Amino acid sequence: MLDLIIKNASLPDGRTGVDIACQDGIITAVEAGITAEATEVIDAKGYLVSPPFVDPHFHMDATLSLGTPRMNVSGTLLEGIALWGELKPVQSVDDIIQRALRYCDLAVSMGLGAIRSHVDTCDDELKGVEALLEVREQVKDYIDLQLVAFPQDGVLRDPTAMANTLRALDMGVDVVGGIPHFERTMADGAESVRQLCEIAAERGLMVDMHCDESDDPHSRHIETLACESQRLGLQGRVAGSHLTSMHSMDNYYVSKLIPLMVEAGVHAIPNPLINIMLQGRHDTYPKRRGQTRVRELRDAGITVGFGSDCVMDPWYSMGTADMLDVAFMGLHVGQLSSREDMAWCFDAVTQNSAHIMGLEGYGIAKGCAANLVLLQARDKIEAIRLRADRLAVIRKGKVIARKQPSVSCLSLPGRPESLDPADYAPKSPT
Ligand SMILES: [Zn+2]
Repeated sequence: MLDLIIKNASLPDGRTGVDIACQDGIITAVEAGITAEATEVIDAKGYLVSPPFVDPHFHMDATLSLGTPRMNVSGTLLEGIALWGELKPVQSVDDIIQRALRYCDLAVSMGLGAIRSHVDTCDDELKGVEALLEVREQVKDYIDLQLVAFPQDGVLRDPTAMANTLRALDMGVDVVGGIPHFERTMADGAESVRQLCEIAAERGLMVDMHCDESDDPHSRHIETLACESQRLGLQGRVAGSHLTSMHSMDNYYVSKLIPLMVEAGVHAIPNPLINIMLQGRHDTYPKRRGQTRVRELRDAGITVGFGSDCVMDPWYSMGTADMLDVAFMGLHVGQLSSREDMAWCFDAVTQNSAHIMGLEGYGIAKGCAANLVLLQARDKIEAIRLRADRLAVIRKGKVIARKQPSVSCLSLPGRPESLDPADYAPKSPT
């Protein structure tokens, strides 16, 4: 007896009419017409079954704190950082734990299976670190939570940040973070990248830096990050988050920079919702979009994963833990409108981000972890267009969240009585 069979699924690779068998937390078969008995059988009715959504860039220590102690009036990144500085001393470890656990409930309902969260290490008490290490343990059966030691106020600019960042890594934080564009000078920014990459190399850790989250075309710390990745043999283990200055850089310089990133095996994590909200704030008109060069990075062979960054915190009042919202915004801002480009945006919130985080057993194939999401949509593009409902979220072969399909009842003379938004899929999607 199998634990679970999902019947008649469409898959992200375009296959349709597929059954998925799960046993002991593992996918044991992906093929048509599986006849074995199972404890639970789900009829997917031709809807899309995907591996879980993956958020490669988030701030779980700040999430759901919107309005505490006050709102961000200007809406800028810098007021957000100042506001976070006001909140840090007055919040308790338990406050952070409770907010994070509530967020994880929401994340599960939205089909998120893995989150990389930065955690602020510019706090001598390391309250966020203590809280999120506890949360990582509490949610491990339903979310893979990876933590990044993030010196928010600058690892060199803040006098105790380096010691606290090292202490956070000693306590079990997984990844080395940084914020070179927030250091006092360009030289300090480059030096911070060097020191932090050396720490990662010594400890055998991954690196993920907030890098060049600025409209300043001269903010070029991604160059140093790529160079250090190569020098220290960190290829494939380093990500640059945001990279928004690349939007404003000179094209000739970028023609040198992107090949350097390719050589260094550096990944890119744009955060479309936040980038379109926060960048271009010093512009009048025309106003820059401020999203990094997604298409060019992808076409060069760099792994690009979209992150959500913030949900209801000092920097961003919106957000519902919906990675399809993130893909939708990334698609629009990057003008990724061909069928191939739109389908790729789904990959940017699933498999690409799983690759960046180094998740094992991710995917829909025999031997992968039985972590799946049933979406009320026929394919990847439709899932983004509809920001489709998650009808079932499955972890290790067990359903951990369910939702009834969205069906509207109509009262219109001579028209259908009900409407399934997924029925509006194009007839010949290719
Ligand atoms: Zn961030």
